[in-house]
Amino acid sequence: MRCLVKNEPKVGVWFDERPIPTITDNEVLIKIKKMSICGTDVHIYKWDSWAQRTVPLPLIIGHEFVGEIVELGKSVSTFKMGDRVSGEGHITCGTCTNCRKGLKHLCMNCQGVGYHRTGCFAEYFALPAENVFLIPTSVPDDLAAIFDPFGNSTHTALATNLAAEDVLITGAGPTGLMAAAIARHCGARSVVVTDINPYRLQLAHEMGATAALDVSKIKLEDALPALNIHNGFTVGMEMSGSAAGLNSLLQHCQHGAHISILGIYPEPVAINWDLVIFKMLTLKGIYGREVFKTWYDMTHLLEGGLNIAPVITHHVSFDDFEEGFQAMLSGKAGKVIVEW
Ligand code: ZN
Repeated sequence: MRCLVKNEPKVGVWFDERPIPTITDNEVLIKIKKMSICGTDVHIYKWDSWAQRTVPLPLIIGHEFVGEIVELGKSVSTFKMGDRVSGEGHITCGTCTNCRKGLKHLCMNCQGVGYHRTGCFAEYFALPAENVFLIPTSVPDDLAAIFDPFGNSTHTALATNLAAEDVLITGAGPTGLMAAAIARHCGARSVVVTDINPYRLQLAHEMGATAALDVSKIKLEDALPALNIHNGFTVGMEMSGSAAGLNSLLQHCQHGAHISILGIYPEPVAINWDLVIFKMLTLKGIYGREVFKTWYDMTHLLEGGLNIAPVITHHVSFDDFEEGFQAMLSGKAGKVIVEW
């Protein structure tokens, strides 16, 4: 089968040929229909320090997909041939204390599809049945293909109450954009998104942000009176992975605010702990999705009218994957769908 592989420790990813995976009794074989490029894939493409210390070579990359089940392991009774599915890319151990408590998202031995183990940018992909999620007919393929990052946004956004709140989202990458749409859908009074990328700030408007501010041009505190926000934000979401984003949240959130942090920092970040302590802020780190609560939440949000479609800005064929990566690298892209 054809696949996309990180073969060598340098910039790029490349086409390759591999045998179709042989499945175990507890796995299903999925014929991939659509994939989506994650920021993680871009880290692997660039072969930055995170990728170098994380990814074993050679490896088929990719973890965002929708496809169809074409083979069932002998012990799999929960799915049938032809089911349209996506899947949870965090493979949990099942034996650590948290797994045994039913808290799979807190597994201490979690393996990531497409960066620790074989990924899905291929014609066929084998996944343990317990990680597979049946996509309801109400969800179109394009959205099913981005359930993984949409799940990051959903997990981050739904970590606290949003109705009637003033929400600050630092970082207008795809996860920040989808979080903005969720916050608005859930009844936030204001959803302010900050970034320094005009293309992505424009998308933030399309996703329902009440304000999208270029903080390289305007100071956030100067913009707040006109937005009728006088005491700071009550909910924060850090989606930028930049020290400036995190510090801005600590500074502009009011006493007692809840801040969820999804952004990943290339280097350790120093913060002013006085702001956390004396404002009695709650900080919560987010990694991945709650399995499978977040997946059902996503489905219900979409069925309840949430619109995240504007976050998908590009479609490319598998043969033109390089074009997709270049769009991501340019910063002038939301989600890029790669199709067979
Ligand atoms: Zn575990």
